[in-house]
Amino acid sequence: MKISCIGCGYVGLVVGTCLADMGNEVTCCDIDKGKINKLKNGIIPIYEPSLNDMFERNIKGKRLRFSSDMKTTIKNSDVIFITVGTPPGKNHEADLCAVESVAEQIGKNMKSYKLIVNKSTVPVGTAELVKKIIRKNQTDECEFDVVSNPEFLREGAAVKDFTNPDRIVIGTDSEKAEKILMSIYRGIARADKPVFITDIKSAEMIKYASNAMLATRISFMNEIAQLCEKVGADVKSVAKGVGLDNRIGPRFLQAGMGYGGSCFPKDVNALEELMKQNKIKGRILYAVSTVNEDQRKLILQKIKKLIPSLKGKSLAVWGLAFKPKTDDIREAPSITIIRELQRSGAKIRAFDPVAKINAKKVLKGVTFCNDPYSTVKGCDVLLIATEWNEFRVLDFEQVKRLLKQPNIIDGRNLYEPDEMRKAGFNYIGVGR
Ligand code: NAD
Repeated sequence: MKISCIGCGYVGLVVGTCLADMGNEVTCCDIDKGKINKLKNGIIPIYEPSLNDMFERNIKGKRLRFSSDMKTTIKNSDVIFITVGTPPGKNHEADLCAVESVAEQIGKNMKSYKLIVNKSTVPVGTAELVKKIIRKNQTDECEFDVVSNPEFLREGAAVKDFTNPDRIVIGTDSEKAEKILMSIYRGIARADKPVFITDIKSAEMIKYASNAMLATRISFMNEIAQLCEKVGADVKSVAKGVGLDNRIGPRFLQAGMGYGGSCFPKDVNALEELMKQNKIKGRILYAVSTVNEDQRKLILQKIKKLIPSLKGKSLAVWGLAFKPKTDDIREAPSITIIRELQRSGAKIRAFDPVAKINAKKVLKGVTFCNDPYSTVKGCDVLLIATEWNEFRVLDFEQVKRLLKQPNIIDGRNLYEPDEMRKAGFNYIGVGR
């Protein structure tokens, strides 16, 4: 099958590479010529574990190509995956400019039947919109189908998630499209990991509802964490006890600095906006994002509890990525908190195993260090902002010696409060 992925970001690159690995001829196409040039030279512009080997194997096998020539890419593809970004618009709605632009290009350049698969996260009704735009721009009247096939991969585990997903959701109104897509996914569909076929609008809604549900669990536990602190309970034990209930399950119940990344914040807000447009009050969603924003403020309050005046003080931050195993810093709590600390007059030293390059682009006046130990040298507080495995087991005697004051704010609850206090730290976690 000749497939193209239009949009070579965290989703497009992984999807394209995995589809090539499944034996398809894939072209990944992007308007960003710099990115395409890097890819043509064998450089992956994002950090995603286990993508490298697959990427190299499929380039060598001539199944994976890169192009910024949209016209030729569209003409030569049987199936076109739309994997462009859908960032927040003025009122937090999903900005569909990139999706619309791709639809226009498809209409203008298609000369035969095309199956258009929308993988970008988009509001209900977007497949209909894409169909309209394609029809309006067609120069040759050829048949086409548009299906919704939302992507559920997690950055940091994207290859595994794409090749071994909990489910594959396909929203379609065409038997032909269903057959083609099922033949593509034959390699990864499993008896216990079903392909769920539904109507287009429901498929579009499933993606938003899934992300909103996961974000809700996180905000719920963050609110419970606040209460735990007041009444003397331990949110880690509470999460464990709650998660042991089969009806609830253990995942996405970790209290911390709140969710970040390029999906949850924008998708919760976009869903709330979609509700508003449909005259529904998104009360739960409003609470979910408000609790999430407050969680960052609470971390600042914890820092100020240890160091009331931050002016001239030095703070060490371990972790900049919005979560471990990625270099993505979009909506990362660390970035908001560092900026706020700088506004209070603090000097920041920071370390992240892979997100330094991206963080350098958005943070000014930060000293970026090369390892956890040198980061804490002479600092008044250490803040753990991302739960990288590298931070789990370290020489805390050395950390204490290097810090000017033995203050630790553990925004990810990596350590045991009793142990840290016994080791001589003024230690504050979240909800413990
Ligand atoms: P990204 O920002 O990493 O990549 C988007 C890419 O699209 C960029 O390379 C950009 O240059 C390109 N692009 C923009 N306009 C274009 C155009 N008109 N033509 C061709 N290319 C264009 O975004 P991402 O994180 O890969 O997300 C893509 C979509 O998938 C979004 O809708 C997102 O919500 C959704 N999604 C993301 C994740 C994730 O973990 N990142 C997971 C599931 C779904």
